[in-house]
Amino acid sequence: MDQHILQQLVEKFPGFDCRLDDESLQQYGTDWTQFHKVNASAIIFPRSEFDLQWLVKFAREHKIALVPSGGRTGLSAGAVATQGEVVVSLERLDQILEFNSTDATLRVQAGVITATIQDYAEQQGMFYPVDFASSGSSHIGGNVATNAGGIRVIRYGMTRDQVVGLRVVTAKGEILSLNKGLIKNATGMDLRHLFIGSEGALGFITEVTLKLINPPGPQSVLVLGLEDLSAVMPVLESFRKELTLSAFEFFSDQALNKVMAHQKIQQPFETRTAFYALIEVDVEKQGSEDALLSCFEYAFEQGWIVDGVMSSSAAQAESLWKLREGISESITPWTPYKYDISVTTSKVAEFLLAVDNKVSVTYPDFENIWFGHIGDGNLHLNILKPEKMAVEKFKETCLSFSNIIYGQVAEFGGSISAEHGIGLLKKSFLHFSRSPEEINIQKAIKKLFDPDNILNPGKIF
Ligand SMILES: Cc1cc2nc3c(=O)[nH]c(=O)nc-3n(C[C@H](O)[C@H](O)[C@H](O)COP(=O)(O)OP(=O)(O)OC[C@H]3O[C@@H](n4cnc5c(N)ncnc54)[C@H](O)[C@@H]3O)c2cc1C
Repeated sequence: MDQHILQQLVEKFPGFDCRLDDESLQQYGTDWTQFHKVNASAIIFPRSEFDLQWLVKFAREHKIALVPSGGRTGLSAGAVATQGEVVVSLERLDQILEFNSTDATLRVQAGVITATIQDYAEQQGMFYPVDFASSGSSHIGGNVATNAGGIRVIRYGMTRDQVVGLRVVTAKGEILSLNKGLIKNATGMDLRHLFIGSEGALGFITEVTLKLINPPGPQSVLVLGLEDLSAVMPVLESFRKELTLSAFEFFSDQALNKVMAHQKIQQPFETRTAFYALIEVDVEKQGSEDALLSCFEYAFEQGWIVDGVMSSSAAQAESLWKLREGISESITPWTPYKYDISVTTSKVAEFLLAVDNKVSVTYPDFENIWFGHIGDGNLHLNILKPEKMAVEKFKETCLSFSNIIYGQVAEFGGSISAEHGIGLLKKSFLHFSRSPEEINIQKAIKKLFDPDNILNPGKIF
């Protein structure tokens, strides 16, 4: 970026909240992906919509690229600066603005941490259901921009399903107040939904109004051992028929090995099996504990499960969740190349076996870790970098290999990104999930909101 323009930006930005030191450029210029060389020109910390409008105007005038940045837990390099962009951190917009107990809504600024929202809702006797392993660091603005999902989607839906209002500053500097917290609003096209999942390409999300719900009653957590993956769907179906499920997750035995070593925790039961399902169920209703036990026994009788454990306390439920929630962190030292793929739930088992077969035939020396939100059709495949392979070589290998994996995804009519977005990492594979017509329409929408291409240029497409 031109040094003279950078100097002007630093001097003129309202509040002068800019950082140019190397440490900040590296820290704020990236997210959780580890495959891009960070090249940010400046980090800027707006405190208001007014600051953002000013910034957008300056960027349009001087043709500067801006990268919106939230909690930087993204897994697709959507918040990574690689081309000398100015990173715009939303972390100073961190206020909880209004809880309305009649409407059961919470209005917050975009930089509020997801877990702060969960805690605040709990203090009000309410519940914010979107949850995942990074909720202690991610921002609600980032969650909206990626339409984050997580572990309880089968019961409560994605972030999109919780958002009843948004305020945004577009890449043209307009302020839009979208849907304003309404439940019913049939006034033409709902632009709110364009911004949900837009990965910072259309505008800055500055405020989010969320719908809160009554907290669920007591939950029980089970971990079940399966030898044969084809048993996973009958297990899901039989439990879902009798009980209200909040989560239906899965992980492979290799994933269990990694998480046990990293978190220093014990295996859940004596037998080791190829796969494990983690199920969270509501046990509030009378008779539900008996129904749970019957489902458990029935799954044994059918030979679907080989062993299993059921939590008998909240503490035990929490420690069983660690087996699933700790996996991402436990494999980070292997610089994993992550696939976040989905198919319709009924196709999951067949799809996983087909992909796993391709992985092991093409790259027999790579270690693969499978886990994911199998109850909603979302699988995370993580290819671990062999110790001696350079990161760049590993990335190139995985990129070429991705055509095979995403080819399978397309064959099964699935998605190449279930909940992590496209960012930089998956943009060359978008055509496996979106038709040329859809991509062209998306590009036209981007142009409408961002005619100067200043917001997150080069991301998504
Ligand atoms: C251990 C771990 C586990 C995870 N588990 C899950 C999971 O189960 N489910 C899931 O969905 N995700 C998961 N993620 C991915 C990640 O946490 C989510 O994508 C999250 O929503 C990103 O939020 P963030 O604030 O960190 O966004 P960032 O990484 O900072 O940004 C993500 C994208 O949003 C844009 N953006 C950020 N803030 C704004 C804003 N205010 N306005 C406009 N654009 C903005 C950025 O430009 C970028 O394109 C996980 C990540 C980790 C590290």
